[in-house]
Amino acid sequence: MLISGNDYVERLSGYKREIFVKGDKIQNFVEHPNIRPAINAIAFTYDLASKKDEYSPHSDLIGEKVNRLNYVNANAGDLIARLDFQRELSMRTGTCHYRCPGADAICSIYPATKELDERLGTDYHKKFLSFLKEIQSKDYACTGALTDTKGDRSKRPREERDMYVHVVERRNEGIVVSGAKIHQSGAFAADVNFVLPTQAFKEGEEEFAIAFAVTPEDEGVKYILQNTGYQAKLREGGSFEAGNRKYGDRLTCTVLFDDVCIPWERVFVFEDLKAEQGVLTNFAISHRCAGAACKAGFIDSMIGAASLMLKANGLEKVPALRQKIGEMVGICEATYGIAVGAATKGFNDYGSWQSNRLIANAGKIIGVEGFNKVLMNLAEIAGGIPVTAPSEFDLRNPEIGALVEKYLKASPNFTTEQRLKIIKFIEFWATSSHLLGGIHGGGSPAAAIIFLQMLADINSKEEAVKEALDIDK
Ligand SMILES: Cc1cc2nc3c(=O)[nH]c(=O)nc-3n(C[C@H](O)[C@H](O)[C@H](O)COP(=O)(O)OP(=O)(O)OC[C@H]3O[C@@H](n4cnc5c(N)ncnc54)[C@H](O)[C@@H]3O)c2cc1C
Repeated sequence: MLISGNDYVERLSGYKREIFVKGDKIQNFVEHPNIRPAINAIAFTYDLASKKDEYSPHSDLIGEKVNRLNYVNANAGDLIARLDFQRELSMRTGTCHYRCPGADAICSIYPATKELDERLGTDYHKKFLSFLKEIQSKDYACTGALTDTKGDRSKRPREERDMYVHVVERRNEGIVVSGAKIHQSGAFAADVNFVLPTQAFKEGEEEFAIAFAVTPEDEGVKYILQNTGYQAKLREGGSFEAGNRKYGDRLTCTVLFDDVCIPWERVFVFEDLKAEQGVLTNFAISHRCAGAACKAGFIDSMIGAASLMLKANGLEKVPALRQKIGEMVGICEATYGIAVGAATKGFNDYGSWQSNRLIANAGKIIGVEGFNKVLMNLAEIAGGIPVTAPSEFDLRNPEIGALVEKYLKASPNFTTEQRLKIIKFIEFWATSSHLLGGIHGGGSPAAAIIFLQMLADINSKEEAVKEALDIDK
């Protein structure tokens, strides 16, 4: 089933959630200036899905159309359609759409539970399919929570037990979990939050090897929103001062689990190291592949902003600056191309299509490098004004407004207000959580490099060189 963005917002308004922003427990979270932008971005995933057939495939599970982000990919075409959906969402909102980790969770729990049942004769896959049916029938927005707070990183999880979400009790009706997940994109605005392991665990660490889903009726869950300069800016108000007021930057939170009881129907991996590793690996790869497509969408947005800035400044004919945009386009398409390559060269895993592991990790590395380069080009094109400009409020001030209007004007084809809107949008790209989100979201580059070192067949490359050089060793 496909619902509208408004239907999703209405459903969300009915949830009672404990959410803290800047030290206060807030009421009416749906209208809060720091939360509403994430809700708008998620609502957009509903509205765009119904506009294109590729974004709303037919699900055999429920016999209806479903959102592409709640679908288990069966082949490369499915995955590429998801990449295109995410690229368009990123371009049109200039931010995260929050449902991507939920989609990765669905696509990684599916094969892991199948493997688990085949190995142990359990019924985790049946339980998962029944939950997926509910997700698809109600068109739930799902997010994914992996990152534990971890504490002292030099210690193993058992020495820092509280810093990893873990099982504290096993009951007839379910498991009781405790701990916290940090950096969680949009969890406060989701219908379902999948909680997955943060890393591969070893023998003796089974209490951390769990995967489950949290829904609004679960008691003992609290959310603490991030509080950066950009969040302060959103609270400041105005119509365009925050640059991307409608959709915001990458809104994350810390999720606290204070002895939360999760019913068995929503526990999909329980203290099983092999299944845990299966979920984790497929999630990481899926997220890095999709993340490269999202980065292409973000770069699309920055290209649009750069081109408008050139025009608003009267610089659109300067070859050296136009060349910067050409470079941005090249990086954008290369990043997207890696994601498509990873999807095309993927593989079937227990009836689900997974992206190519080596290429998806390369997408992370190239995507991060590309994102940085694009941001630098954007900053070069924009000049210093995104971090020095007066505010929207100065423009409206009766005493200085006319002077701001006069001195901030550039090309006759743009009003001062239009130029200032573009400037504030570039400020948003350069100074919000986007840069660090690009670097660390979906796992840090260091994690991708570890994967690449593990997966690459360096020997065959050495052999090729030895053969070419007649080195007999
Ligand atoms: C905007 C944003 C959105 C995010 N959204 C989500 C989300 O929705 N869900 C989710 O689960 N997570 C999310 N993340 C978390 C992201 O996956 C983590 O930031 C990332 O995995 C790195 O973990 P960390 O920040 O805790 O770094 P830390 O663990 O503090 O590590 C710091 C640095 O050291 C490196 N490092 C640490 N230990 C080792 C080691 N043993 N060997 C080599 N290098 C090491 C790390 O790779 C990193 O570069 C998000 C992050 C950001 C910034």
